[in-house]
Amino acid sequence: MTTLFNAVELAPRDPILGLNEQYNADTRDTKVNLGVGVYYDDNGKIPLLKAVQEAERQRVQAHAARGYLPIEGIGNYNKGAQELLFGKDSAVITEGRALTFQALGGTGALKIGADFLKQLQPDATVHISDPSWENHRALFERAGFKVETYAYYDATTHGLNFDGFAASVKAMPEGSIVVLHACCHNPTGVDPTVEQWQQIATIIKERKLVPFLDIAYQGFGDGLQEDAAVVRLFADLGMSMFISSSFSKSFSLYGERVGALTVVTGSADEATRVLSQIKRVIRTNYSNPPTHGGMVVAQILNTPELFEQWENELAQMRDRIRDMRKQLTDKLNAAGVKQDFSFVMAQRGMFSYSGLTKEQVERLRNEHGIYAVNSGRICVAALNSRNIDSVVKAIAAVL
Ligand code: PLP
Repeated sequence: MTTLFNAVELAPRDPILGLNEQYNADTRDTKVNLGVGVYYDDNGKIPLLKAVQEAERQRVQAHAARGYLPIEGIGNYNKGAQELLFGKDSAVITEGRALTFQALGGTGALKIGADFLKQLQPDATVHISDPSWENHRALFERAGFKVETYAYYDATTHGLNFDGFAASVKAMPEGSIVVLHACCHNPTGVDPTVEQWQQIATIIKERKLVPFLDIAYQGFGDGLQEDAAVVRLFADLGMSMFISSSFSKSFSLYGERVGALTVVTGSADEATRVLSQIKRVIRTNYSNPPTHGGMVVAQILNTPELFEQWENELAQMRDRIRDMRKQLTDKLNAAGVKQDFSFVMAQRGMFSYSGLTKEQVERLRNEHGIYAVNSGRICVAALNSRNIDSVVKAIAAVL
């Protein structure tokens, strides 16, 4: 029978979600999933933060009606997201140059930004880091852009290839869009220093490129304010830019799809016009964002006691990941592994590019039930006091 769908080809499986399916089907009770992009607590569970529980309790108690939200989302949510990025007294806020839209996670923010950029700069090429979060390429290609990579990671040092990075950015044609991880680079865990960022930002400004900062792990590096340094540095240089924020990890609200797109313009008048255009992009896409997750985050961001509680809980997540980095490094050393893993301590955020080869990752999976991404990326936030010894033993065995 000939149908509309005869010629449809099977799309490749998402590599990370595919790995999860394989992990779920594994019957070994010693299995460990380090392939995820999620923070687990020491009991191996996704936490429901106390600040979130309290905001939800208040929300349920209010028995609020569920009308439509404005196209751009909850005002207080957007204000809170902006203040996290720039600080309360920032000129871009007080001068009315920044616009924020509640978005369906960081992914939704990137997509709205990409669709608007396609309208603005239809022939521009998008440049992403080599390597980058696996959805960056697909998302910008889907929006109709050609996507290329810029030099970033140095596999020999497990660190940054700064000279390559700077040279790549210098070579980009004017008007190119450059996607940058503002902190806690995914997948490598390797971030430039502030001084290095200063140099990159200056080149971006000189070359008249369009920065699109992706900040999905604010608070997981050094702290909420510290991790916004790169965003503030770009804002201080007076550049027009796009920023996608994700609150999925920092509020542990993955399924609520909480994120924000922020656009920094040159004047309040420009902001008004850009607002009207991005509202059209949203209106013709999903019309307006959902209420629950946004209300919870807005409540926390705008209530000092809840904010403090959230910041403390975020610090606990950050500290636990750091402790796992240290234990992993120390225990591999103690296990007599010859390879130097001290670079794991210098990497930041939830991930580490471990340097494990594809063959070693396959052996970890087949022989030990330890799941990591083929690139060698491991989620340090999935390690805990109960699984770290078996993970170390398995890594030592495959090296
Ligand atoms: N950007 C980066 C760098 C990420 O790592 C992620 C999530 O893993 C996202 C964006 C998307 O975040 P969300 O789950 O909020 O859509």
